[in-house]
Amino acid sequence: MSRSAHPAGPRHADVLTEGHYSAPAADLNVLDEKVWSRTVTRDADGALTVGGITVARLAEEFGTPAYFLDESDFRARCRAWADAFGPDADVFYAGKAFLSRAVVRWLKEEGLNLDVCSGGELTTALDAGMPAERIAFHGNNKTVAEIERAVEAGVGRIVLDSFQEIVRVAHIAQRHGVRQRVQIRVTVGVEAHTHEFIATAHEDQKFGIALADGQAAEAVRRALALDGLELIGVHSHIGSQIFDMAGFEVSARRVVQLLAEIRDEHGVELPEIDLGGGLGIAYTSEDDPREPHEIAKALSDIVTRECESAKLRTPRISVEPGRAIVGPTAFTLYEVGTIKPLEGLRTYVSVDGGMSDNIRTALYDAEYSVALVSRTSDAEPMLVRVVGKHCESGDIVVKDAFLPADLAPGDLIAVPATGAYCRSMASNYNHALRPPVVAVRDGEARVIVRRETEEDLLRLDVG
Ligand SMILES: *Cc1c(COP(=O)(O)O)cnc(C)c1O
Repeated sequence: MSRSAHPAGPRHADVLTEGHYSAPAADLNVLDEKVWSRTVTRDADGALTVGGITVARLAEEFGTPAYFLDESDFRARCRAWADAFGPDADVFYAGKAFLSRAVVRWLKEEGLNLDVCSGGELTTALDAGMPAERIAFHGNNKTVAEIERAVEAGVGRIVLDSFQEIVRVAHIAQRHGVRQRVQIRVTVGVEAHTHEFIATAHEDQKFGIALADGQAAEAVRRALALDGLELIGVHSHIGSQIFDMAGFEVSARRVVQLLAEIRDEHGVELPEIDLGGGLGIAYTSEDDPREPHEIAKALSDIVTRECESAKLRTPRISVEPGRAIVGPTAFTLYEVGTIKPLEGLRTYVSVDGGMSDNIRTALYDAEYSVALVSRTSDAEPMLVRVVGKHCESGDIVVKDAFLPADLAPGDLIAVPATGAYCRSMASNYNHALRPPVVAVRDGEARVIVRRETEEDLLRLDVG
């Protein structure tokens, strides 16, 4: 995330000369609805409830740490994306953000399609009944075995990521006697981050085939020449946690230019373009994400305008939000353990999880918020760093935040907006047991991914 773009919060302790943190909210008991899922509220006793169930009950029944996923919020977000893009576009949920059988069923019921990028994700999708034609298969190094399975299953599209893969998929499709629908992933020379984007001429990354030096046009030539492939379009994905639509604008313009070149050279108008995912969500009160209908309008306006000026038929658009759908729908519930005040610095609050259930802070310097949720408090705010129980000093969950000064071991605290890239990136470091994901809806809570057990650990250890 781009720190510099955030207004600096007022300095708290005089020793803090760098690093960004928000000023304490006027009232730490108030939950900012921007960062919490839709059914979250505080009950009359001050405890946080989700789907009508208090965290004390959830902690008692399911233990901590645990992820609680607000199912009606998830479904509402799916519908908002589907409605915003309408019948002439396709929304593919990016499964890598978080995938389970229940999630697949919700997506299917709410009319979304699904992106997968490994055999494991494909298995989960098919096992839970997602029709293969609604699945897109991604990845920069799909194995032959994965491609075979995708082709056999009849996935709706494979997104080709290299020259070698064009040939690989064509051969496999031919062997199966089918024409596989494919898109070509191009790198458009746009690097997008939270609050800014950079348009570059060259792409120094492992994904896609570069537009800039004519490589993408050559890939199209080769794909069009192969019997096993039905080239349906071009794909671009420019980054993650993006708020600024300008990067998408440049990307869409370059992709449409390529379609025009393809029309001029080959006399074919490819029917589809995919503009990828990467739409940002609110992790803290300072983030202001766009609503799906604003995003849909911005993207379709750009594509329509560019196609008009290139005299192209407007292609069918698809998008691939992952984080923007699941991210805001879940929070992680932790129990407070050791509290260590460091005089003149900050207070370290240790929780019963850490980098094994949320690696994003260590990996990307991601920012999160946190709240005391088992009760309210009128105590003064104290500057805290929420850390885990792992053997790494970088095991930080929330770098800078404020919690009430009367925080005590046994209190429950929750980190919102952990639905995306937390459980899906969870690890067993220190032989931690990966936490469960519990779906909560209308007063009912059910485990959709169970907690790992020590037996699970030992079962894999066959030495
Ligand atoms: C990761 C990824 C997405 C989803 O990104 P989010 O930031 O979760 O929206 C979509 N498409 C592709 C190709 C990706 O690699």
